[in-house]
Amino acid sequence: MLNINEIRKQFPVLDQQVYGKPLVYLDNAATTQKPLCVIERERDYYLYENCNIHRGVHYLSQKATEAYEHARQTVADFIHAKEAREIIFTRGTTESLNLLATSFEHFLLSTLNSQLTTDSKLSTDGEPVEPLNSQLKVLVTSMEHHSNLVPWQQMVQRHHGQLLVVPMDDKGVLDLEQFEKLLKEGPKVVSIAHISNVLGTINPVKEMIAMAHQYGIPVVVDGAQSIAHHPIDVQDLDCDFFVFSGHKMYAPMGIGGLYGKAEWLEKLPPYQFGGEMVDTVSFEKTTFNVLPYKFEAGTPNVGAALGLETAVQFLQKLDRKEVEKHESQLLQSAIEKLSDIDGIRFIGEAEHRSGLVSFIIDGIHPYDLGTIIDKMGVAVRTGHHCAEPVMTRFGIPGTVRASFALYNTMEEVEVFVNAVKKAAMMLR
Ligand code: PMP
Repeated sequence: MLNINEIRKQFPVLDQQVYGKPLVYLDNAATTQKPLCVIERERDYYLYENCNIHRGVHYLSQKATEAYEHARQTVADFIHAKEAREIIFTRGTTESLNLLATSFEHFLLSTLNSQLTTDSKLSTDGEPVEPLNSQLKVLVTSMEHHSNLVPWQQMVQRHHGQLLVVPMDDKGVLDLEQFEKLLKEGPKVVSIAHISNVLGTINPVKEMIAMAHQYGIPVVVDGAQSIAHHPIDVQDLDCDFFVFSGHKMYAPMGIGGLYGKAEWLEKLPPYQFGGEMVDTVSFEKTTFNVLPYKFEAGTPNVGAALGLETAVQFLQKLDRKEVEKHESQLLQSAIEKLSDIDGIRFIGEAEHRSGLVSFIIDGIHPYDLGTIIDKMGVAVRTGHHCAEPVMTRFGIPGTVRASFALYNTMEEVEVFVNAVKKAAMMLR
């Protein structure tokens, strides 16, 4: 059993009043709070260990380098990567996805261009073959966060390629038949959310990865919403890439990761250029460093990486199955209690879902509802949650979203639901 009271003691930020009411923090899908151990780890780094890494021969630099590389190994073990060099530290999910979209852009164009020089430009019947750039297709789903949509969209649009989109049903479940059909259209990359940050749907990524692999297509999994809540095993999933943000898993802001299978990371070109990522440099030519440094140009956020390691260790000390169970109970209780509100419409009703609930209430703007319950101490998120196409799909301006973390309690769910009920009465 999780001892929630003990856990909460590690999160001083939760123990405060806002507008004279105890804070009920239910905006964990946006960012989680940080335990003392994480804050202290980052602070200690700056107090006693701060140094630039990899370059110095002196004591502090070596110590900081060792600590940073130890953090990489800890993250690799946490998601069961085969090797530490398969973990690239980034600023977070958004940067990881931009890295991949940019790197794939260069990789795919050079592959397609080399085909252009070797293939005949004319088909056997003398007609010009399909322009190679129109083969630049990327497949995403209709429930992606903008971070897993815009980088790919911009990438294909720069080359007159195409973004293919897997549709979903009214409950927020992806249509796998359509997915299979779209795979046959020859996307070069598939990039899918593990868990939707709006709907809470847990997508069947393992099955989707196996399907994509039958067509030889690599798969990126956006794990921003899954890594803090469910054990992740990248080898079991067999994903080619897995991206995540530290700040959504009890770690500091400004750090996150990109896991990639070594054979893919070896093939892809670097994303940013500068110090650290090079091997030799002359005015004529530069050769690049080995993995993972090839993808880590410049001075990294060492303090935050150490904080991320501590956050991982914090999670590893807990029974993750118990965490899943606790968060699922919070969700079930919230759904049950909200259900008696007149005119409530849940957005996202998949059978397999994770710890968040999104809803609207007839005749009430989500923003108004969020503002009123904030005054009662309840922090939820309102709006489109950086997923405008999801709002368009459901024909709504936004939702109210409550998202749970391991430190939330049943009492908080009660306070939240009562606040929503009260606000709905006031607004009608
Ligand atoms: N993808 C998903 C599913 C998300 O929920 C988020 C954050 N809301 C992101 C990507 C972007 O994460 P970050 O802002 O930490 O880069």
